[in-house]
Amino acid sequence: MDYRGRFAPSPTGLLHFGSLVAALGSWLRARHAGGRWLLRMEDIDPPREVPGAAAAILAALPAFGFVADAPVLYQSQRRAAYDAAFARLRALDAVFPCWCSRSELAATGTLHRDGRCLAPPDPRREPAWRLRAPDLEIAFDDAVQGPQRQNLREAAGDFVIRRVEGLYSYQLACVVDDAYQGITEVVRGCDLLDSTPRQIHLQRLLGLPTPRYLHLPLALDAQGRKLSKSAQAWPVDPATPLPALRRALAFLGQPLPMEAVDPPALLAAASRRFDPALIPKQSGCFAG
Ligand code: GLU
Repeated sequence: MDYRGRFAPSPTGLLHFGSLVAALGSWLRARHAGGRWLLRMEDIDPPREVPGAAAAILAALPAFGFVADAPVLYQSQRRAAYDAAFARLRALDAVFPCWCSRSELAATGTLHRDGRCLAPPDPRREPAWRLRAPDLEIAFDDAVQGPQRQNLREAAGDFVIRRVEGLYSYQLACVVDDAYQGITEVVRGCDLLDSTPRQIHLQRLLGLPTPRYLHLPLALDAQGRKLSKSAQAWPVDPATPLPALRRALAFLGQPLPMEAVDPPALLAAASRRFDPALIPKQSGCFAG
């Protein structure tokens, strides 16, 4: 099967070192396999979006040598596909409405149990919709982090598919779009390793294929926080792409093509020599 990989940034800030590592890792894997590399802008969460960030990320990528093989897919334009997937989940009776407010949940821990919400329906407001998490172990073999397993009910519980505001969750949109874009392997940061069982479960419910997975180590700041969440997220400067690309390559344990004088040459040489066995495992990632 032809390899199709992707990079799927959220427009919550400028391109930073952590997202550069994800772009690079997904690019190297796709190019080494002689496959395609696609881009998806995950702009489904307007309240979290930083104005101008999507355009800035898309403008920065070519400066680092990353050029997608198809037009960018914008999740903000995929509402109809998410509506259809949600309708299918409702038809399967796999989701239930939930009127618990965030403050109630914070106070009591859980007000939804055994696949239903214990809070009384409130006709004055829209519910959130949660997926019934079965008592089911989901296992998969990550190409870098190794065999993983997770009990969906224990680890994730009845997770939100559609928020009170009518916005769809990352989990649903990601699964629908990975299938729509024909992604054969998902390469992304280890912070999403524990989302993968939820996504595999959704794929099975929706009759979608499960891609392979490769989770990259996470770039953390000095306090051990994910860079994007850190106050000092380290934006990478598209005006001087080579030093950041070299740092990202070194971070992924890959040999540095010292002879390369520009990003395309560096990426081409690095893709040829790419070896996933050299990527450091992330310590502290869940392993079931
Ligand atoms: N949009 C997510 C992020 O920027 C990545 C999602 C994914 O690769 O599945 O963290």
